[in-house]
Amino acid sequence: MSKEKSAAELLKEQLFMKKKHAGLVMTEEQVSRCDDFCESYKDFLDGAKTEREAADSAISLAKEEGFKEYTPGMSLKAGDKIYYNNRGKAVILAVIGSESMEKGVRLAAAHIDSPRIDLKQNPLYEDNEVALFKTHYYGGIKKYQWATIPLSLHGVLIKKDGTKVTIRIGEDEGDPVFFISDLLPHLAQEQVKRTLNEGIKGEELNIVVGSRPFRDDDVSDKVKLNILSILHEKYGIIESDFLSAELEMVPAFKAKDIGFDRSLIGSYGHDDRVCAYTALQAILGCSTVTKTAVVCLTDKEETGSDGNTGLCSAYLKNFLYDIGESFGVNGRTVVSNTECLSADVNAAFDPTFPDVVEKRNAAFLNYGVVVTKFTGARGKSGTSDASAEFVGKVRSLMEKNDIIWQTGELGKVDLGGGGTVAAYLANLGMDVIDVGVPVMAMHAPYEVVAKTDVYMTYKAFKAFFEEQG
Ligand code: MN
Ligand code: MN
Repeated sequence: MSKEKSAAELLKEQLFMKKKHAGLVMTEEQVSRCDDFCESYKDFLDGAKTEREAADSAISLAKEEGFKEYTPGMSLKAGDKIYYNNRGKAVILAVIGSESMEKGVRLAAAHIDSPRIDLKQNPLYEDNEVALFKTHYYGGIKKYQWATIPLSLHGVLIKKDGTKVTIRIGEDEGDPVFFISDLLPHLAQEQVKRTLNEGIKGEELNIVVGSRPFRDDDVSDKVKLNILSILHEKYGIIESDFLSAELEMVPAFKAKDIGFDRSLIGSYGHDDRVCAYTALQAILGCSTVTKTAVVCLTDKEETGSDGNTGLCSAYLKNFLYDIGESFGVNGRTVVSNTECLSADVNAAFDPTFPDVVEKRNAAFLNYGVVVTKFTGARGKSGTSDASAEFVGKVRSLMEKNDIIWQTGELGKVDLGGGGTVAAYLANLGMDVIDVGVPVMAMHAPYEVVAKTDVYMTYKAFKAFFEEQG
């Protein structure tokens, strides 16, 4: 028998905020629904390691659900499912609602690019009978983490005649992989005195791609020649075709369960494919919605959102203007009345590095989808800072739909910071807040998320789109 609660205890229960681990709130059946959902998420991760592959995957999943390619000027009606492909690197999907476009749309925007190692324009060289690629890293990485792990090569080359060659090497069982070397500890006496940031320097991120010579006694650069001969035979390319290419090295690891209890998923590229996938699944499951539902899977977030596939460009705005015009509503009205969940990850509290966060406001694994009111650095520089009114709306949406959620902040004040696409969308005049999954070891070659958080994020997007009125 539990003893009766005192007046103070009852008052505390009434007034204090409660936070509870999802594993204690959810039934076993609910937890296994999270686990099931994450099985297909892992497949998505393995199949979509670059922005191009993620865009392709999203489009083929959308087509299966009856989404049709949209072209401006196309006539639209409630219930139509459309997608717009921006150069194969960013995708917008929409389900047209029954309510007037004047009321705006419900938008979830996630990015499908992740930190990685890009090849330089002129990458291939031979040095002391080893063939290597020169690289230029993409996004914020701790460079030393990318040495001595298996890497796979993804991307496209455009040949002189304009034909496109698509490459994906290192993902299939039996494929070779690639490798950035590091010094052996025996000879690293000087190297270990470098700061962590310089442990491996940018120009040391050279990728080993071969070591066997072309059989010939006279010719120089035999190892390089042998590599080009293999590439020519397999893809019909020559060295100058690298000049017009986008080739990306990413970790060759597969997504796997982590832990004896299989509660976590380790993978490359959770940031931000975990939000891209959950938002995508939410819109794919929409059949009838009152307000038009839109998912934007964007590129270039990791380098600041510039470029014609990034959210600083006009492509999303143009899309919203165009679909508004199909109903005779001017684009400005659509955009200003739009509500947006900027779908991006936040840092999860890490017990090994507790000092970088302020625990009362940090996000924790297994505490559900994170709602981040503001990001930025120093005095909130660069943030869009959602209004109390909009946070209130999102909060009541979460609570009404039994979504386990938490708030988050990216680290202690003045310790660093970061941003998302939220500010660029807010600059268009819409209401925006960051919503996403907490990630451990964000931007590392292998990042970690909790399955319950992934599922709760999916539920949040679903509830957002299906909200009446
Ligand atoms: Mn991100
Ligand atoms: Mn990121």
